[in-house]
Amino acid sequence: MKQPRVVLLVLTLTLALAATAVTAVTTGFGRSGSPPVKGPQPEDLPVYQVATDFHLPDSPTWEEAKRRGHLVVGVKEDQPYLGEKDPASGRYSGFDIEIAKMMAASLGFGPTAVEFRTIASANRETALQNGQIDYYVGTYTINDNRKKQVGFAGPYFMAGQSLLVRKGEKDIEGPGDLAGKKVCSAAGSTPYQRLQKEFPKAVLVAYDTYSICVDNLLTYQVDAVSTDDPILLGYAAKVPEELKVVGAPFSEEPYGIGVPRGDTALRLALDDALAAHEKNGDWKKAYDATLGLSGNPAPQPPAIDRYPAN
Ligand code: GLU
Repeated sequence: MKQPRVVLLVLTLTLALAATAVTAVTTGFGRSGSPPVKGPQPEDLPVYQVATDFHLPDSPTWEEAKRRGHLVVGVKEDQPYLGEKDPASGRYSGFDIEIAKMMAASLGFGPTAVEFRTIASANRETALQNGQIDYYVGTYTINDNRKKQVGFAGPYFMAGQSLLVRKGEKDIEGPGDLAGKKVCSAAGSTPYQRLQKEFPKAVLVAYDTYSICVDNLLTYQVDAVSTDDPILLGYAAKVPEELKVVGAPFSEEPYGIGVPRGDTALRLALDDALAAHEKNGDWKKAYDATLGLSGNPAPQPPAIDRYPAN
């Protein structure tokens, strides 16, 4: 699909959205309408070697998945190049999705034995605690607070908080310009918490997802969207005529793979898997075919933090 048609579609969508009560919005920028523009091409994606004869008897999560016959992995569905669901085919794509598949392959589960489930930022800890998902890969920042509730393998990528504004915006060039401005972020996210704490003069608006924030930005309901730079760059890459990312990142957001807390065997197995896929080139190939499409060349992956059982 060509870019102008997509822009039109997005604009039509956003106009339609403007006509509905904002709180009742159920469709959004990334969730309905167009398939990914310049999206990951299936033929460019690596095929991961599925481990045979793999066993992890000390992991209750792995044992249960084996009994069930497939893994259930929590992800995002509205974050271009990271975790995005094609509404027509139901297929998920993006860098986080590739990381999830790499991990599955190392645990002995092929691509058809992975079921993806969309879980919003605010619901990740609960989903892991309730056993709704086996692990989570979706721009999930590792921090000490969250480590009290869940475990984290990784990190597998280093992001930083940034700002997305409309192309014509002149007043906002960094977080210091947010006083009195309406800024949207996702409930339960670290960027939202940082804005609240460090930029109290910004007028905060929270939704479940960033795509709803982007709809609000395009319809002039908010002045900026704030979250991690790779997420924002993805939205900007979709409609470069409408949106731009401004300023330098103002935090460090190391992305981890969330696992149920206490399942140390699973966490360390995923750390091993990650190290192996970084070493054999899968990580870089996956990055180039997905997140790399939003503009930045592949960085060095951050050092893996194999922390002791806590
Ligand atoms: N990395 C941040 C977080 O985990 C923002 C992205 C997100 O909400 O997934 O809260």
